[in-house]
Amino acid sequence: MLADNIFLKIINKQIPAKIAYEDDRCLAFHDVNPQAPVHVLIVPKKVIPTTDDLTEADEVTVGHLHLVAVKLAKELGLSEGYRLVINCKRHGGQTVPHLHLHLLGGRQFHWPPG
Ligand code: 5GP
Repeated sequence: MLADNIFLKIINKQIPAKIAYEDDRCLAFHDVNPQAPVHVLIVPKKVIPTTDDLTEADEVTVGHLHLVAVKLAKELGLSEGYRLVINCKRHGGQTVPHLHLHLLGGRQFHWPPG
């Protein structure tokens, strides 16, 4: 199941996506159902189902995902700010079992989230 999640298919170019950034550790692509003018998903190439599955060995990868999000926010013109979101499991609203960082921007967000 985890080995054939939809994001792994995007990483392996088995299904298309609008790619924003790629390197040896991660892929960033535009969300198919954007919740803001900019909505990019940054995913590790290593299969990590949720943040609950992170280990010390993933420390560099997690930092890398965050820095890629910041780089993309600059490139995509989000100078007024943006929101980074990681949903975890059912209560967190996670629907795809492959760790991903949402980069959302281009409109005003509110707090607390729904
Ligand atoms: P989650 O709810 O797991 O935090 O976020 C999953 C996100 O993946 C959702 O925002 C959803 O719109 C997006 N998504 C699901 N399937 C696809 C797909 O096939 N392509 C792209 N580009 N985004 C997808």
